[in-house]
Amino acid sequence: MAEIGALGGVKPVGQPPRQFFHVRAAETEQQLFFELENRQWDIPPLRILLENVLPEKQSFQDFEVDHVFSSIGHKILLLNARRIPDAGNREPLILLAFEDVTERRELEWHKDAFLAIASHELKTPITSLKAYAQLLRKNYTKAGDEKAAHMLVAMEKQANNLNHLISNLLDTTQLQARTLPSQATLFDVTELVHTIVENVQQTTLKHQIRIEGTVHEPFTGDPERIGQVLTNLLSNAIKYSPKAEHILVRLVADPDAVILSVQDFGMGISADKQAYLFERFYRVNDQIHTGIPGLGLGLYISSEIVRQHGGQMWVESREREGSTFFARFPRMPQPDVS
Ligand code: ADP
Repeated sequence: MAEIGALGGVKPVGQPPRQFFHVRAAETEQQLFFELENRQWDIPPLRILLENVLPEKQSFQDFEVDHVFSSIGHKILLLNARRIPDAGNREPLILLAFEDVTERRELEWHKDAFLAIASHELKTPITSLKAYAQLLRKNYTKAGDEKAAHMLVAMEKQANNLNHLISNLLDTTQLQARTLPSQATLFDVTELVHTIVENVQQTTLKHQIRIEGTVHEPFTGDPERIGQVLTNLLSNAIKYSPKAEHILVRLVADPDAVILSVQDFGMGISADKQAYLFERFYRVNDQIHTGIPGLGLGLYISSEIVRQHGGQMWVESREREGSTFFARFPRMPQPDVS
């Protein structure tokens, strides 16, 4: 819902959204905006925006007001404002648009809370399914039953896939709530990259993953989260290059940053879709990419992790030739160990 009120200087002269705010004309017209309804709108950041920023910038968008109003209770409103140039000798007008997003925000919150609980609860049974499958596989291998052992490998792989999907969902809800845990320490990036590549290599028979470059100096960051970024990029490289045989991981260090990249020789991504890849739930929906499962969360989570390290992600890609995903991590000051 959008309701529009026009305010002269800071005095309402048009039709303020009176029905929405349950106020009468006499209570609003010719009143100073910040004095309306017992000064409920006198919120310091809004005052700064209206009085200082607006005269310079002429407009602002989506300023969020989260407030308990005496007349209508708790509301989350998005405010857009625009200065309308002075017509004649009157003071300039400010056009304020209010959008009530209370219900939308509450639904988003419930959805995220549900996803967080559901994914957390799903992780325990999957972990135990995986452990039993591993145990059975070992027993069958010992007993020489190759066929059964092979089926159990497939079962473990599916349990891993499910675990990965659920972890992505959980991370997404934590990112939304800004509670994604992260721990910065000094670590050896080259060693981390080799460990992750060895692990991921075991999940593919078709692709050979090669590593180029080393970083000699220890790096400050969260090794688990940075490993997660590399795992995501490598599993995408495998998933979206089913006919290719090589994947290349590069490590480049300069005095200011470490750049990690993963190149594949697969489907690639057309130029017009590349800008959306790091958005939540975005999946390329074209002929080349059809039939490949996923949630469209891996790149979103990865780019958020890189952002939390002060860095950026980007992609270079050509359709049907392949893609290279880059993650640049600036060198941070060393953690204070005192
Ligand atoms: P998911 O793979 O689960 O869909 P991601 O967030 O990891 O989610 O990726 C988003 C989308 O970007 C994918 O759906 C896919 O269309 C495209 N994509 C990601 N990596 C590659 C790649 N290496 N090659 C081609 N397309 C890719």
